[in-house]
Amino acid sequence: MFINAEWIEKDEKIRVVNPANGELVQEINKGTKEDAIAAIKSAKGAFYTWSRTTALERSQILEKIAQRILERKDELANIITTEMGKPLVNAIYEVESSSAYFKWFAEEARRIYGEQIPSNATNKRMMTIKQPIGVIAAITPWNFPLQMLSRKLSPALAAGCTCLIRPSSQSPISAIELVKIFEECGVPKGVINLVCGSAEEITDVWLESPDVKKISFTGSTEVGIELMKKAANTVKKVSMELGGHAPFIVFEDADLELAVEGAINIKFNSSGQQCVCANRMYVQESIYDEFIQKYVEKVKDLPVGDGRDLKCRVGPLINQSAITKMNEQVQDAVSKGAVILCGGKRAEIEPLKNGYFYEPTVLADVNDSMLITSEETFGPVAPIMKFVTEEEVLKQANDTEFGLASYFYTNDLSRAYRVFENLEYGIVGINDVAPFAVQAPFGGWKTSGLGVEGAHGIDEYLEVKLGSFLLKMN
Ligand code: NAP
Repeated sequence: MFINAEWIEKDEKIRVVNPANGELVQEINKGTKEDAIAAIKSAKGAFYTWSRTTALERSQILEKIAQRILERKDELANIITTEMGKPLVNAIYEVESSSAYFKWFAEEARRIYGEQIPSNATNKRMMTIKQPIGVIAAITPWNFPLQMLSRKLSPALAAGCTCLIRPSSQSPISAIELVKIFEECGVPKGVINLVCGSAEEITDVWLESPDVKKISFTGSTEVGIELMKKAANTVKKVSMELGGHAPFIVFEDADLELAVEGAINIKFNSSGQQCVCANRMYVQESIYDEFIQKYVEKVKDLPVGDGRDLKCRVGPLINQSAITKMNEQVQDAVSKGAVILCGGKRAEIEPLKNGYFYEPTVLADVNDSMLITSEETFGPVAPIMKFVTEEEVLKQANDTEFGLASYFYTNDLSRAYRVFENLEYGIVGINDVAPFAVQAPFGGWKTSGLGVEGAHGIDEYLEVKLGSFLLKMN
C-alpha cells in the first residue's frame, strides 16, 4: 500500500493466487479503515499544489509514465497473466493500451479549454473555465488489472485531480507496479494513494467522505448500483463502467470467414472474461449451418492452458465460482433444448490440476428462455441462435437491461446504417470486433454504465465554472 508517498507494511496479508495452477503469487499488505482515512487526508493535502501545476508539467509526467510502461511491457504482461490468467498475447495488448491512455491524456491535459460566451448586454462578458474536481477514488475489477486503472488515472492526473486507488484483491499486483512507475516518473507526494483490503470497508470510507468528490468504478452492475446509492449521500459525481451482454449478429450477406474469425476473437479473447465479449450470437437462418460448422472447427482447435505458454489462446477462469457459473449456464441451456457442439465441461489440463480451466464451448439452438441469454457469461461459452428477419433480430438484440458493446456482420451498406442506428448500445462494431481506441469514447447505455472513458473522458474529472463580468464602459 502506498499512502502519502510511503510504502506501508501490515501484519495482515492478502494471498494472490495464480488461477492457472493455484500457486501463491505474492502476499499483499491488507489495509484497514484507518488506512482508507489516511489516504483521503494525503490526497486532500496534495490537491492544492497538484491542481495548480501547469498542464505542461502534468503532461510531461504522463508522457514519462507512458514510456516507462512500454519499457516494462514484458514484465508487466507477465504479472497480469500470473495474477489473473489471461493469455500473454492479451496481456501484452493490455499493457500497450495502458501506455496509450497515458500518452493520449498527456496530450489532452494541454487541451482543457473553456469557452467565451456571447452575453446579452454590451457591458457584460461571459466565459467558462474547467477545473479539476478534487480527490477522486478509482475502484477497479480483476479482469483488466492494469488497463482499467490506466483508463481512470490518466485523465484524472491530466485534469489535476489527486487519487485514491483500490484494486481488486484478486489481482492487485499490477496496480502496485503502476504506482511504482508513478513514483519513478515524478508524480508528487500524496497525489496517488493505493489501499488494498476489504472491498466494502475501504470504499465505504471513501463513499461517505465529503472530501472525496468523485468515484470512478468499473465492475459488475450489481456492485455499481450499490456504490451509486452510497455516493448519493454526499452527491458525488460518479462514472460507472458496468456489465455487458453483447449481441453478435451475422446476416446472410456477410463475409462468412470474417464473421467466424471475429466470433472467435470476441468470444475467446481473455478466456471470455471481458465486459465486451460476445454473449449472444445470432446467425441468419440461411447460413446458420455453414457458420456453425466453420465456427466449431476453429473452436475445437483453440489451445487451452497456462496463459504464460505462448501457444495458449484460452487461459484459466479466475476462480471456482466462475467454473460453477459456466456449468450452471450450460446445464440450464441443455435442459431447455440447447445442443452442445463442443466443450461443455471443466477442462483437465496436465499438469495444472489446480487450475480453473473450462473447455471452449459452443451451444446451438439456444433460445431466449435460457439463463445464458440474459445473465453475463464471463467465460468461454458461445451460445448460438437462429433468426429470420432483421426486424426480429434487432428486437432480440435490444431485449436486455445491458447496453455496452454489440457487433454485426453485413456487406449491405443500407443495412449497416439501419442496424447501427437501431442497436441500443454505447459501442457498435460493424464487421469489426475491435471498435476500441484511446481516442474513441468507451461507455455503456442502460445498466451498463454512466459516463465515458477514453475520448471526452477527461470531462468526467473536471468541473465547469461560469464567470460573468459586468464591466464599466467608457
Ligand atoms: P465486481 O465484483 O463488481 O468487483 C469490481 C470491484 O469492486 C473489485 O475491486 C471488487 O473488489 C469491488 N467490490 C466488490 N464488491 C464490492 C462492494 N460491495 N463494495 C465495494 N466494492 C466492491 O466485478 P468483477 O467480478 O471484479 O469484474 C467483472 C465485472 O466487471 C463484469 O460484470 C464486467 O462486465 C465488468 N467490467 C466492466 C467493464 C467496462 O468497461 N464496462 C470493464 C471490465 C469489467 P474484490 O474483487 O476485491 O472483491
